[in-house]
Amino acid sequence: MGLISVEAPAAELRDIKSHNHDAMSRSAVLHRSIHENVKFPRLVGGKGNFLETDDGRRIFDASGGAAVACIGHGSPRVRDAVAKQMMQISYCASTFYSNDAYEELCRLLVASAHGHMAKAYVVNSGSEAMEAAMKLARQYYLEKNPAENQRTRFIARKQSYHGTTIGSLSMGGHKARRVKFEPMLVDNISHVSPCFPYRGQDGETDEQYVSRLAQELDDEFQRVGPETVCAFVAEPVVGAALGCVGSVPGYFQAMKAVCCKYGALLIMDEVMSGMGRTGTVHAWEQEGVVPDLQTIGKCLGGGYQPIAGVLVNNVIVQTLDRGSGAFMHGHTYQGHAVACAAALEIQRIIQEDGLINNCQRMGQLMGKLLHQALDSHPNVGSIRGRGLFWGVEFVLGKSTKEPFPVSDGVAMAICEMGMKRPYCIGVYPGTGTADGIRGDHIIVSPAYNIVTSDVEWIAKTL
Ligand code: PLP
Repeated sequence: MGLISVEAPAAELRDIKSHNHDAMSRSAVLHRSIHENVKFPRLVGGKGNFLETDDGRRIFDASGGAAVACIGHGSPRVRDAVAKQMMQISYCASTFYSNDAYEELCRLLVASAHGHMAKAYVVNSGSEAMEAAMKLARQYYLEKNPAENQRTRFIARKQSYHGTTIGSLSMGGHKARRVKFEPMLVDNISHVSPCFPYRGQDGETDEQYVSRLAQELDDEFQRVGPETVCAFVAEPVVGAALGCVGSVPGYFQAMKAVCCKYGALLIMDEVMSGMGRTGTVHAWEQEGVVPDLQTIGKCLGGGYQPIAGVLVNNVIVQTLDRGSGAFMHGHTYQGHAVACAAALEIQRIIQEDGLINNCQRMGQLMGKLLHQALDSHPNVGSIRGRGLFWGVEFVLGKSTKEPFPVSDGVAMAICEMGMKRPYCIGVYPGTGTADGIRGDHIIVSPAYNIVTSDVEWIAKTL
């Protein structure tokens, strides 16, 4: 850590003059990672699905960073689209101008939702998208009927992650990420159990399990007062907090039925699982339900630009149109023309190259080969996933499912080891799987354009 002091010591000044990047630029960065004690390599390049480090390693990016780089790195098509947009109009305040790239991207996003969504809203990060969704839900009820002014609460799930800003962090149930800020978090959000068959389904059939979870949600509505709840919020496939855990059949239909019973909205957070990652453009397509509001992020811009968004259904749009006519929200960089141009080109590449189909096919192979390679390992508790979004959970013993002590830092150690020779594989580490604090997993979420030999290499190397 450490910020450069105003009076920099002589050695630091020498570093500045000699452009000693290693010493200086590292010391000027507040922190590079939430895992400050781990030595991550310095990247000097990225081409296709490989990352290049300053000491000559070529690391296969098997997680696309944090499940972001869905078309790999260094695409000339995206470079050209970004450069063209920059020369046309590099920035305009989307609160009072519009631009073609923003409008075209929103049109593409709305079209991707098979008529279920009416409009899109584009921001810069998943956390911002979650904040916007929360405020949209609140504004919807206010403008629908002033008597619904009391709807200010949300019900989300334990072991979930929805972002890092105060509102979105409050929405998440990931204890380890919340703990330092707990006294600052908003108290109008409560958490019910996630759908997590590996640790939650106790000898029950899927039907019994779903009905128990639906009852828990119903009880929570009753406890907080159903007339106070704006929405139930969930990730269709839980990423960082659980390691690629999808729900059992019928779960989201049952949850939506509870929401409808109390006139509340269903918000699905597809920041990590959306835009093709699970083998369909939207993860909800596999659930037999459509959310009222949906957030998207990572694979929208594939890492080429910071960009995320919210898809909004027609009922909410019409209510706002009949009411104030505008969403009372805005960021300086929302609907950023260059970010939208990048996202638009990435989505076109995904469509033209049939990458969602490839994601499905390679995902099936990935599941099969990961099971073959790792099922018999005594410390592998569970392997689960959809599309190219796979999680491996580690335990002390298969039968007890006992997590490793937090101090062992198992997921981080595996991730760190992967970056070393001879492995050179980038995977995404996660903790808190068992109870929000204990429990380790890694996520494997490569680019959608990988081929059979890549999948074979990933499974073998892991
Ligand atoms: N929601 C989910 C499901 C996420 O996985 C994340 C980030 O990992 C976020 C929201 C927050 O997105 P961002 O880090 O872009 O703010």
